[in-house]
Amino acid sequence: MNHFKYILSWVLWPGLFGLCMVIAGYGFAHDAPVLYFNIAYVFLILSLFFLEKWMPYERAWLKPDGQNMASILHTISSKGSVQLLFLFSGVIGLADYITPMAQEGYSVWPRDWPLWAQVILGVTAAEFGLYWAHRLAHEIPWMWRFHAVHHSVTKLWFLNTGRFHFVDSLISIVLGLAILLAMGAPMEVVKWMSAITAFIGMLTHCNVEMRFGPLNYIFNTPGLHRWHHSRLLYEGNRNYGENLMIWDQIFGTFYNHSYRPSADIGMGDYMPTKFTYQILWPFLTNKMKQRLQPDFEPVPFGREGDADHPVPEFAKRKSLFTLIASLFSVRKFRARV
Ligand SMILES: [Zn+2]
Ligand SMILES: [Zn+2]
Repeated sequence: MNHFKYILSWVLWPGLFGLCMVIAGYGFAHDAPVLYFNIAYVFLILSLFFLEKWMPYERAWLKPDGQNMASILHTISSKGSVQLLFLFSGVIGLADYITPMAQEGYSVWPRDWPLWAQVILGVTAAEFGLYWAHRLAHEIPWMWRFHAVHHSVTKLWFLNTGRFHFVDSLISIVLGLAILLAMGAPMEVVKWMSAITAFIGMLTHCNVEMRFGPLNYIFNTPGLHRWHHSRLLYEGNRNYGENLMIWDQIFGTFYNHSYRPSADIGMGDYMPTKFTYQILWPFLTNKMKQRLQPDFEPVPFGREGDADHPVPEFAKRKSLFTLIASLFSVRKFRARV
């Protein structure tokens, strides 16, 4: 890698994210949020498209996997169903209940804070819902059925960003937004939260050689998300954060080691290749699956630490609580000596 690419690898993640935020911010300030958000989004997609070819992180992931159309259709169907949900909540009058909560004097939301501080609070609070939606999708078998669509890919690149079963998307958007709405966050904060999630999400899956340094402790970077797509449960059941790593740090699922993660990503479960089958799959029984796809073989739901999925000592979960507790026990020990 030449010097220019090396320097670029440090600048790209903060640079692209920052630039997108500036473009979106200009639109928010000039009453054209949708137009400028879309300009930033298209700029990000095009940049990543070229960067992935020019300086890929994993050359093996440049090869086609036959899933482009399926990923695009999942993106459309999950985005579409989220829009329908908003429309539907308006139609049944849910919005009339929610709107008063965003009014002054009604909620716990600190409206007198500067906007940037409100946005940080909003992203952190929504992230709690997003974190648990994602973590439960890995720990509860019926939720995993839907989330498996996202993990069935064998390469990472920007096109995987929106590849979610629509049920999976609906669950996480409801949990993420419910917290913000219950706290009475104003629309301005929700708008910023959505833009940040869109930009970070697109970056998270990109196959570009990037370096992150201390950013890894705060944001969900592509470096951290590559562990999350590992076939090994002690690497894959980690880094659930969508934008921020704070809840992973607190609940012990943060994972970042110095060795390079395997390029052979994916999952043990079977997933058909066609979009329509992938949409149907989570709803079917094993018998139905076998009838549709004769080569289907059921795999029992694996849990980290069971006989088939041992966890090495260095990879054991360490929550912030246990880390703090261990600090105190070391102190006590030292004091006695
Ligand atoms: Zn996941
Ligand atoms: Zn992913």
